[in-house]
Amino acid sequence: MSGRSFLQIPGPTNVPDRVLRAMDRPVIDHRGPELAALTREILPGLREVFGTRDGAVLLYPGSGTGAWESALVNTLAPGDRVLAFDHGSFSAGFAQAARNLGYAVDLVPLRWGQDLPPAEVEARLRADDPAHPYRAVLVVHNETSTGVTSDVAAIRAALDAAGHEALLLVDAVSSLGSIAFQLDAWRVDVALAASQKGLMLPPGLAVLCAAPRAVAIGQQGGGSPRNYFDWRPHLRDNAAGFFPYTPATLLLFGLREALAMLAEEGLPAVYARHARLAGAVRAAVRAWDLPILCERPERYSNTVTTVVMPDGLDGDAVLRRARERYNLVLGTGLGKLKGRVVRIGHLGALNELEVLATLGGTELALRECGVPLTLGAGVAAAQQLFAESAALAAVPD
Ligand code: PLP
Repeated sequence: MSGRSFLQIPGPTNVPDRVLRAMDRPVIDHRGPELAALTREILPGLREVFGTRDGAVLLYPGSGTGAWESALVNTLAPGDRVLAFDHGSFSAGFAQAARNLGYAVDLVPLRWGQDLPPAEVEARLRADDPAHPYRAVLVVHNETSTGVTSDVAAIRAALDAAGHEALLLVDAVSSLGSIAFQLDAWRVDVALAASQKGLMLPPGLAVLCAAPRAVAIGQQGGGSPRNYFDWRPHLRDNAAGFFPYTPATLLLFGLREALAMLAEEGLPAVYARHARLAGAVRAAVRAWDLPILCERPERYSNTVTTVVMPDGLDGDAVLRRARERYNLVLGTGLGKLKGRVVRIGHLGALNELEVLATLGGTELALRECGVPLTLGAGVAAAQQLFAESAALAAVPD
């Protein structure tokens, strides 16, 4: 198909030309001075994005699923009890990863579309068994399957209110670099992410940040049997700018460029842009008269909107239409949402006109699949919102 393909899934996201160019270069020696200098540039930039001063950044060739494992095996001992919540495909997946690794997971079922209720966290922790307490609470900051962002600050407050010592392990895979994250302020023990979302890179990197309390567990001999994901050799070698394995060198060049782009725009402006673009997508969905799965508007995700299809319409038919006719790729429903929803990704390198094109294509595909919407209504609602925010931002001469 001629023209550009619109990849608007909630990750992998579009890689900016600048980042592509930064990776288009000869491979370097991963034991040489160039790599050490590169690592030293990257780590402070990542700490900034995680919202931490003293957190330790860990990078592995891998993905978010590997980052789950890395977070778990470095902080938990075999048989440790873990509290987790099922309110989407990834919160359930994080819990399953813990179960597969041999931890004793209590999984609390919630509605898919709900954010994680801090009161529920507090109640579960208050009712905990003091003889064999939970060692960790697993939280997904932004549930990519449902388009719901949970309030990590409030969840931290819930742990505090319960006076519970459990570690707070947070999946920030689809929020980091797009929605504000504050590892220090929220006293998150481990945050984890991956390269292919807000960091605007191709898939291939697992990215973590561990607070001193979490790092100390391994250093004092704790954790589970592990090898590749062991933080100790990583932190030892990283101090000199190296890694205890062969790093994904070209991705690291891309990461340096992506971090530079985030710093140039300024993180507050990056988060504000995501909020603005997400607001426009939601305005369009409302104009189409389709429900958004997220139950509470204050918890709408600024990186992905999960749109509920009318009864009888298979969401995957809409995706097929968008892909085959308009070269627009939208996200499928995951797990029990398969066929029931369409997910519009709006994160990473993205601007107003790209959102309008995405909405225009989605609107056409929906209409051609039988949704009785007025063509142009969604695009106009988004344009209206952009025009209003431009007016607010306008500075008189
Ligand atoms: N957690 C969340 C919130 C995700 O969105 C994803 C993937 O989309 C994952 C974990 C798994 O990450 P990966 O697919 O990179 O292994």
